[in-house]
Order: sequence, then structure tokens, then C-alpha cells
Amino acid sequence: MIHKVTLIPGDGTGPEIMETVRNVVDATGAQIEWEVEEAGCDIMAKVGTPLPESVLQSIRKNKVAIKGPITTPIGTGFRSVNVALRKELDLYVCLRPCISYPGVRSRYQNIDLVIVRENTEDLYAGIEWSMNTPEAKEVIKLSKNKIREDSAVSIKPISKTGTSRIVKFAFEYALKNHRKKVTAVTKANIMKCTDGLFFEVAREIAKNYEGKIEYEERLIDNMCMQLVQKPELYDVLVLPNLYGDIISDLCAGLVGGLGVAPGANFGDTLAVFEAIHGSAPKYKGMNKVNPSACILSAKLMLEYLKETEAAKNLDDAIKEVFRKGESVTYDMKPFPNDPSAVGTKEMGEAIIKAMKNLSKVSALK
Ligand code: NAD
Repeated sequence: MIHKVTLIPGDGTGPEIMETVRNVVDATGAQIEWEVEEAGCDIMAKVGTPLPESVLQSIRKNKVAIKGPITTPIGTGFRSVNVALRKELDLYVCLRPCISYPGVRSRYQNIDLVIVRENTEDLYAGIEWSMNTPEAKEVIKLSKNKIREDSAVSIKPISKTGTSRIVKFAFEYALKNHRKKVTAVTKANIMKCTDGLFFEVAREIAKNYEGKIEYEERLIDNMCMQLVQKPELYDVLVLPNLYGDIISDLCAGLVGGLGVAPGANFGDTLAVFEAIHGSAPKYKGMNKVNPSACILSAKLMLEYLKETEAAKNLDDAIKEVFRKGESVTYDMKPFPNDPSAVGTKEMGEAIIKAMKNLSKVSALK
């Protein structure tokens, strides 16, 4: 079956990574017809918007997309295209499996955690006002002057609807993927209304899975320490947007860094696959950064498209390249300036070669 997939190269190191991803996915034999759509800084300079309507149209039509990272200038400039895309398409789930691969250097082994991050609410809602604006002043007045007059204000919305659908997703994922436990994580002791609601709703939903999936709660500060000290105690974590973002990077660190941490965003009918990492702009055009996180995101995409064999062959090949540790990028070597490190493109080629070799071996069996 031919699958039509929207491919967004992104900016910074995105285009070079995504070219490698495309070559690797094509080599799996899965029949993908790519529809390339530009978003980010580079297209902004040409058409005046970092997220042209055609990108959204293409994803709505094809229902599946894979994207490279996109830069968000800090403080000024446009709002995050990544956040806008998730909101526009109501991609309310951000799924980030963090799994240890043999050969990938890390202080930890045998990590097997899944982060389920809410993608549309919380402090990411983009509802904020600068100091001295009428809106900020209004909120300050509403707070009965508990907020200082010279404050900027960001709003943190957490809804019953938003929480309910993300927690349900976490439990259903746990059930389908033979996981044992879902841990909800917030700071409900301090944010009693918003994070309190998240726990309240999660508890209600957990009742439907009693006897099948265990449910527990943790506070975010304690969770950070626990994940560093005893990550083996945890399985599937479900979190509001901001905590989910931070914990994703922490868990990426447990399995060897951002270079190997994939992800996926889901709505009810749409899916956009992307790595956790950003556009690493300082390495733009240098053929240097690790394509693995995006290739592993493509593996998740192949699974989603029910290209099970292609996904497995790709996973086996990635494991082989990691295990050998030869044709890998600088971040996977013992020292960053290791002269034996290969480039983005060459690592992709090594994965394609491993796929071919492994298929020859299995044909001989
Ligand atoms: P980053 O993830 O781009 O880089 C953080 C560090 O990790 C850097 O030292 C970088 O060199 C390293 N790194 C990142 N990806 C790597 C890879 N594939 N291989 C090897 N090393 C890698 O984070 P940042 O510097 O905070 O962000 C840069 C830009 O990307 C910002 O504008 C940010 O907003 C954006 N961003 C985009 C996304 C996305 O598109 N989903 C996600 C996160 C950040």
C-alpha cells in the first residue's frame, strides 16, 4: 500500500537530518509518497509566515506527517511553529518513548519509560501579557494585588476535557502496549486548582482500568529525583504540557541524550512525528548532528502506518549501528571531537547498509 506523508524539513539542521530520514525510510521498502512542505525561519523570509496554510492543508489531507525541528526565536519574533502546529491540528498527545539501546553511552541501562505529555494547554497556551499592558493590569486587579504591579502575566489553563483525553490516551496506550502502570505527575500541592484538577480527573479515569493498569501520582519535584535515582520504578508517565516538556529532556538524558530520543504527536485522526530535540542552529549545514532521533521517530511512523516489517528492519539496523558504535555522529562517541565520528548523511548510509546486510543474513537462514 502506498502511504502519502507530509514531510516538513524544518530549519537549522532540520533539512539535512530530514534528507537522511527520507533516504533511510525509502530503503526500508515501505511505499511512501512524500509531499514536502516548508515551515520555519527559511520560508518565513520568503512568504512572510513561518507556517503557511498549505502545510496545515497537506497534513489534514494526508493525516500523517514527519517534521524536522523548527527554530523559535527567544523573546521576540514569531511564536513557536511547533506549538502552533499542535494547536491548529489539535494534536493533543505528545508521546515520547525513552528506551536504552545497547551501545549508546549513558549512565543508565535498561531504561524503558514512556512520556505522555499533554500538548495543547497549560502555560503553553500562549495566553500572556507584558508588563504594564491593560490586560496584565486587569489580572493584577483581579488578584486583589497579590501580583506585583510591575509584573508580566502568563495564564495556565488546565481543563477537564483536555486532561480527560490525555489521561485516557495514556491508559489505552498502556493497555495496548502491555505496560503495567500509569503515573500522573503535577505540582498539585501548590497549584491546587489547575494541577489539582489534573489529578482529580486522572483518578476518575484510572477507576475504569482497575485490575488492569496500576495508577499512582507523584509531584514533579519528587519525580525528577526519583527518575534520576530509581527510573526502573516507572513505566508510563502522564503530565501536563510544561512538566512533560521538561521531563522529556530529563528522560532523553537517561537514555543517552537528545540525539536518540524520538517522539510523536497525535490527535484523534492526525499524527505528526518529530524528535524531542530542536534545530541545533549552530551546526546548520555542517553535516554533523545525529539523525537517529528523527530516524527513530520515522520508525514510530512506520509502526503507526502498520508497516510492521519495515519498522522492525529499521529498528534492527539502528540497533546494529549503535551496538558497533563506529559509524555514529560526534555525540555518540566517547569524546565530542573524536576523529572517527561520521556525519549525519554517513550515519544514515550506515543504517541503510546495516538494513541490507541484516536482510541478506535472514534470507540465508
Ligand atoms: P536543541 O535541541 O536544538 O539543542 C540542545 C543541545 O543538544 C545543543 O547542544 C545541540 O548541539 C544538541 N543537539 C540537539 N539535537 C542534536 C542532534 N540531533 N545531534 C546531536 N546533538 C544535538 O535545543 P536548543 O538549542 O534549546 O534549541 C534550538 C532551537 O530549536 C530553538 O529555537 C528552540 O526553540 C527550537 N526547538 C524546536 C523543537 C521542535 O522543532 N520540536 C524542539 C525543541 C527546541
